[in-house]
Amino acid sequence: SETTSLAAVPEPAAGRHVPADLPSRIQHYIGGAFVDSADGGTFDVLEPVSNEVYVQAAAGKKADIDRAVTAAKHAFDEGPWPRMLPRDRSRVLHRIADIVESRDARLAELESFDSGLPITQALGQARRAAENFRFFADLIVAQSDDTYKVPGRQINYVNRKPIGVAGLITPWNTPFMLESWKLGPALATGNTVVLKPAEFTPLSASLWAGIFEEAGLPEGVFNLVNGLGEEAGDALVKHPDVPLISFTGESSTGRLIFGNAAPFLKGLSMELGGKSPAVVFADADVDAAVDATIFGVFSLNGERCTAGSRILVERAIYDEFVDKYAAQAARVRVGYPHDPATEVGALVHPEHFEKVMSYVEIGKTEGRLVAGGGRPEGFETGNFVAPTVFADVPADARIFQEEIFGPVVAITPFEGDDEAVALANDTKYGLAAYIWTNDLKRAHNVSQAIEAGMVWLNSNNVRDLRTPFGGVKASGLGHEGGYRSIDFYTDQQAVHITLGEVHNPTFGRN
Ligand code: NAD
Repeated sequence: SETTSLAAVPEPAAGRHVPADLPSRIQHYIGGAFVDSADGGTFDVLEPVSNEVYVQAAAGKKADIDRAVTAAKHAFDEGPWPRMLPRDRSRVLHRIADIVESRDARLAELESFDSGLPITQALGQARRAAENFRFFADLIVAQSDDTYKVPGRQINYVNRKPIGVAGLITPWNTPFMLESWKLGPALATGNTVVLKPAEFTPLSASLWAGIFEEAGLPEGVFNLVNGLGEEAGDALVKHPDVPLISFTGESSTGRLIFGNAAPFLKGLSMELGGKSPAVVFADADVDAAVDATIFGVFSLNGERCTAGSRILVERAIYDEFVDKYAAQAARVRVGYPHDPATEVGALVHPEHFEKVMSYVEIGKTEGRLVAGGGRPEGFETGNFVAPTVFADVPADARIFQEEIFGPVVAITPFEGDDEAVALANDTKYGLAAYIWTNDLKRAHNVSQAIEAGMVWLNSNNVRDLRTPFGGVKASGLGHEGGYRSIDFYTDQQAVHITLGEVHNPTFGRN
């Protein structure tokens, strides 16, 4: 039927694409040198198209984290980076952006190979990584801190200081771009860093070392330790010389990290999971809403924190919407990640593939399958999932409540604004929401009633980097973006000085 066939499936001959000059192993990068783990341990890294092990990566443990933190602390305590003027750090960050831009095609090729992301989307993410560096390079020089005149010829000003060694822990979805979103502001503000990238996708992270060396970042400022979350990540969170942790990942991991960081009272930024609603009212432009909500859940393979994975549709247009949506979802091109025509590639890892497939099976008992529902035709191996659409999904269904993080969407009907808001808020998450309506008052009233850190009205995921990015409820703690990132990575010391006579109180004089 139209809803289960897939158009434009590439010939299997298009198959695998293995980039030239892959590294023979992936190491840590500590104090300006590539090194193996202290105990020599490694872990397997798989290619999502074939699930073959293509490289071994160093498996960092506490000893490796200790070594990296020592290098980062030395660079912070003794090195030039925290002491440089913002404009001089800004120049280095601009050079980093230039280098990333000049290598965007190679970065995209490696990222696509390692993560299964379609090549065109991986290219967009590489360019966004450059943009992140450029953005924070400009912001750090544009920033002017407040100075206040206080009665009695006093002046108060804010002395903004880097905090120390920043621990950065990142997930496997768009890994290089999300690393840049933390590295940019952490470095712009003069901190030194230890990055612990996701173990499913360590390939692109090791490229930072060469880029930073070439851009002139001083030795020891950037350190990288690969490894498993419960080993390397855990040791970073519990290291006493790491005063702040910026984490992006699952809500359950965030909760664990929150607890482990609590005895140290560390600064924490948490960007966590989501199950974001896209609310389509009957007065919306239905075709535009179908296009946007298809893109909103199937782009980046559905492995997107802000995916609009629950679509709530007003009853008057429900049947029309579901029919159009299912037909279009069935035409989304699943393909090999390196093929420029591919819209949905391979999921990152067989474990994640199994998780997504188990939700597809659960969905068959909870909703009405109208598109996809398993492996796409022609892809008998690798982590390929057909864009899958369930209609008539009740709010208590697991596929309505739980983050699937793959190309699977639940559609649910509603009647009127109140029910739309109630359904939108009926999950533990609160990352993003998308609203489709041409009624101005409704657009704003519903936006304000929805529990989400970010709302897109008749638009799709486009944002200025100065705006806050972050979630509420189980979707996160704190906001990143613009000056909020600068605030997180700095201490804001208030300095109060008297320029005139000091009028001391006369306690105890007589
Ligand atoms: P994850 O929580 O499994 O892993 C994220 C990182 O944490 C990895 O580097 C992992 O090794 C590390 N880690 C795991 N256990 C740890 C521990 N005990 N201590 C310290 N570190 C530990 O998440 P994932 O599966 O890699 O990523 C997908 C999740 O990330 C989804 O929930 C997605 O919504 C979320 N995400 C959120 C945003 C956002 O901005 N809100 C952006 C992207 C992804």
